[in-house]
Amino acid sequence: MLNFDFYNPTHILFGKGRIADIHQAIPADAKVLLLYGGGSIKQNGVFDQVIAALGNRSVTEFSGIEPNPSYETLMKAVDIIKHGNIDFLLAVGGGSVIDGTKFIAAAALFEGGDPWAIMEKHGRNVTKALPFGSILTLPATGSEMNDGGVVTRQSIKAKLAFSSRHCFPKFSVLDPTTTYTLPPRQIGNGAVDAFVHVMEQYLTYPVNSPVQDRFAEGLLKTLIEEGPKALANPQDYDVRANLMWCATMALNGLISTGVPQDWATHMIGHELTALHGIDHAQTLAIVLPSMLRVRKEAKRAKLLQFAERIWDLREGSEDSRIDTAISRMQDYFEQMGVKTRLSDYHLGADDISPVIAALETHRMLTIGEKRDVTLDVSRQVLELSL
Ligand code: NAP
Ligand code: FE
Repeated sequence: MLNFDFYNPTHILFGKGRIADIHQAIPADAKVLLLYGGGSIKQNGVFDQVIAALGNRSVTEFSGIEPNPSYETLMKAVDIIKHGNIDFLLAVGGGSVIDGTKFIAAAALFEGGDPWAIMEKHGRNVTKALPFGSILTLPATGSEMNDGGVVTRQSIKAKLAFSSRHCFPKFSVLDPTTTYTLPPRQIGNGAVDAFVHVMEQYLTYPVNSPVQDRFAEGLLKTLIEEGPKALANPQDYDVRANLMWCATMALNGLISTGVPQDWATHMIGHELTALHGIDHAQTLAIVLPSMLRVRKEAKRAKLLQFAERIWDLREGSEDSRIDTAISRMQDYFEQMGVKTRLSDYHLGADDISPVIAALETHRMLTIGEKRDVTLDVSRQVLELSL
């Protein structure tokens, strides 16, 4: 096992009716900026619950944080904070709203000039942030219990990730009933994003980490078992609860302790979203199967473990077990309604070079757990995904 720090200060309030309990988690005299997206929270009653729970605190609203939150939009909220009387942020929504709020929290106190520098330095230059909490309505990203965020600058088509220990939510409410109104596309996206988060931390090379491996395998199995049930029975509380906690546990720092991490699939995926607006999870479903096929030798031992423990494949040659395991995973993505080929999104061979050029611009020249995913390897991966 590798050395590690584990630090996670986020207070989780889990279960039906827990939005009401935010009144204990937010200072009574807080001046709150309530941040949300395109309005789903107004249609499903979450907004009303939040307003009721905030009581007589001063509340300013900021809506319109879009999927793949943009620097351009987020800077408008930073402006409100600078000119208004705000000392606590409350994000209500999915990963985009929570990620956006993290950026706003750091940008509002940033002293190094244009806050876009936070993204360029991937958060290493963040020294403080406004306190914030979140109310999660879409289990997927783990943003509710981690210190990372992804922000897009639309004017230059750049989607970059940052993290800082100052950007953990103070608390996050996970009420599974808030997810009942998710459209099938977002149910599928959420399960696939969480699945790929686990894979980025699990499917690397062995370092004798049975605790982390067994946690990761439990999360993968749960996503495979519960995901299709959520599509079939959207209002099954236990299914939603298990998926919600699964997605949080997939990226809250626990399963990454002491193990190598990959993240090459995410880095390529971010470029596909920045250039073509494809949903985050859709890009991962396109990239990961090919990534595993191309990097079969480097990942052989863990691929065999994945084949045996996740897909019960014990017979046949090593290569056939690995190939079948990757195909089963791809089938699972498709079963969750997430298409896995570039052509499914109307992209072809001509669209690959711009993705490689964007990776180069963003200095993603050698990515993956062994830093052996060069631009040539990334190209091979995308060619295999056509
Ligand atoms: P999202 O972009 O936050 O939301 C997608 C859509 O779902 C929005 O249109 C939203 O509508 C809707 N929605 C959310 N909750 C709903 C509900 N309960 N009922 C009905 N509709 C609902 O999706 P996401 O997958 O959670 O976040 C994706 C972003 O997170 C990407 O930018 C990705 O790169 C990033 N990400 C972050 C991390 C991390 O660790 N921080 C990890 C992976 C990915 P409204 O706008 O109307 O609410
Ligand atoms: Fe992700």
